[in-house]
Amino acid sequence: MPKPPQNHLDPRQPLVVDTTKLPRQPGATRALKRVVPAPEDLGVELISVPKGSDLELDLALTSVSEGVYVSGNVRGSVSGECGRCLDEISESFDVSVAELFAYADSTTEETTDEDEVGRMQGDLLDLEPVVRDAVVLTLPTNPICRPDCPGLCPDCGAHLADLPADHSHEDVDPRWAALRKLADSPTADQPNMKQHRIEE
Ligand SMILES: [Zn+2]
Ligand SMILES: [Zn+2]
Repeated sequence: MPKPPQNHLDPRQPLVVDTTKLPRQPGATRALKRVVPAPEDLGVELISVPKGSDLELDLALTSVSEGVYVSGNVRGSVSGECGRCLDEISESFDVSVAELFAYADSTTEETTDEDEVGRMQGDLLDLEPVVRDAVVLTLPTNPICRPDCPGLCPDCGAHLADLPADHSHEDVDPRWAALRKLADSPTADQPNMKQHRIEE
């Protein structure tokens, strides 16, 4: 029995693709180049694609016997915060995508999970989950502005990169300074002292 049509997708959504013009013969192909506004929450906590920013789709749709195969690249920019110094990070990305969207009632549709293989809804397919997976996978969970970012001074919060190498707060409290002096002195070096005694 044929399943009822599942046209929940809205063709006006920027990442929904209408494949009406793609011939259903396997091997038929059609380029899909468009710039769409990025959807909400495309990214991870500290770094993401700004909502509404340009997302460039450079894709090919290919008819295969079981559905439509989408492959190509998605480009855009991400912005976020350095996990060490909290400075703003802004960079571009270029990720490749490759995904099969199975026709309703095809063998592929019947023998796979929706999580594994995308589904066509009539002539429509939704690129958003594909783009989301591809973009999120390339983003660092701990973004940093540069590999050697020294971060912030734990005492005053200033950017260590802007401070002299000997920046310190040793003199803030004379009692702590005195303790540190003690800890740094060679006589406080317990393991060495013991060794010395054994040698005697
Ligand atoms: Zn940084
Ligand atoms: Zn400081």
